[in-house]
This record gives sequence, C-alpha cells and structure tokens, in this order.
Amino acid sequence: MKIIVLGSAAGGGYPQWNCNCALCGGLRRGALQAAPRMQSSIAVSVDDENWLLLNASPDLGQQIRGCPPLHPRGPLRGSPLRAVLLMDAQVDHVAGLLSLREGLPIEASKPGRGSASRWDCPGKSCGRAPMCNSLAAASLLDRQPRMSPTYRLQHEEAQDSWVLLYPEGMVRLNEAASEILKRCDGSRSVQQVVDELQEAFGEASLQADVCDFMSEAYARGWVL
Ligand SMILES: [Zn+2]
Repeated sequence: MKIIVLGSAAGGGYPQWNCNCALCGGLRRGALQAAPRMQSSIAVSVDDENWLLLNASPDLGQQIRGCPPLHPRGPLRGSPLRAVLLMDAQVDHVAGLLSLREGLPIEASKPGRGSASRWDCPGKSCGRAPMCNSLAAASLLDRQPRMSPTYRLQHEEAQDSWVLLYPEGMVRLNEAASEILKRCDGSRSVQQVVDELQEAFGEASLQADVCDFMSEAYARGWVL
C-alpha cells in the first residue's frame, strides 16, 4: 500500500493565518527553518491506479495539483481519485469537496457528526463515519496521552458530573468521556485505556469509540 501525506497541519495550516506564536511567527520572519504545511489529508492506494482520499481539506485543489499520482490521465475527464472517506464533518475535513467541481466522479462517504457532539449522544445510532479501522488507529493506539496543562479534569459535586476546565470556559463531559480522560495520565497507551474500559464495563468492542474520542481530544488539544 502507498500512502501520500498531502498535508499534515491542523485546521488552518501552518503557519496559521491568525497566529503569531514562536513557530508561526518565526517562520514568517524567517527566524525559523521550517516548511509551511497544508491542512491534513492523506491519499492511499494499493495499486497506484486507484486512490482513496481520507478527508478533503480546504487545501485539496493545491494538494492535487502538487501530487502527480492524483493527476488525471487517459480521457479528457477523469481522476484516479475513486472515493473520499470523511472521518467526520469538521469543516477542515470536508471543505475540499467544493474543489471537486463538475460533480464527484467518486463516492463520498456520508460524514458522521463531529465526534464531540456524537460523544454526547447516548445512543449508538447517530450515523457516524467508521473510524479507527483506518490507518490512523494503529498509531493512535500506541500513543500515551496525558492531559494538557491548559485543561483540568474536575468533578462537579453539585451536578454529579465531570467537566474540563480551561481559562476561557468549561466543557461538560458525559460519563464515557470522563472515564477515558481520567485514564489519560501519560502512563497508559490508548490501547491500555481501551483494555481497561472494556474490562471495567464488560464490553468487548469499545476500541472504535475510544479511538474516535481520542482523535477528537488530540485535535482539540485536551490531551498531549
Ligand atoms: Zn502558531
């Protein structure tokens, strides 16, 4: 299988248009030797002929132009891109679909809801996109997440619920989210968190849900 990393930056790209941190500002000023990066997306293929795109970043037009294996070949119209798999409905994962004008010659998976909102869903029938059976899951399971110092996990006695406190506000967590984050202390891998929760709750198939939530937690900066 071939994997092409089309972009590896978070939403907004690097440098971020509105960020003057040491990394973003340093790159603009030339004080830092680093490469600008486009927003994250990868293309995968098993035969070099047919490619699957994982997420369609807002940079997709530029990413395709810069990637010869994804260029049209053969007849006047066509593309080796056969399908787009959307991990969720975040705008920096779907906005690139607008670059594929003249109609998708391809199938686009139905986007799931944003993972965070889905995580609040008490049921299992909210139509999320399949995650965690993907390539990303393997490396995610090996990571050892710990809470970001910006966020504090705290139990609210009054409402008997767990919340994430940060300088600008608060996120209320449901039980599943809090059970995962309680275990993000840097000592356990995501795989170990999965194993612990499956044992604690007597469920055998929590891996996809935990990976789904952890992807979101990393994306939001709750964990490092
Ligand atoms: Zn920055």
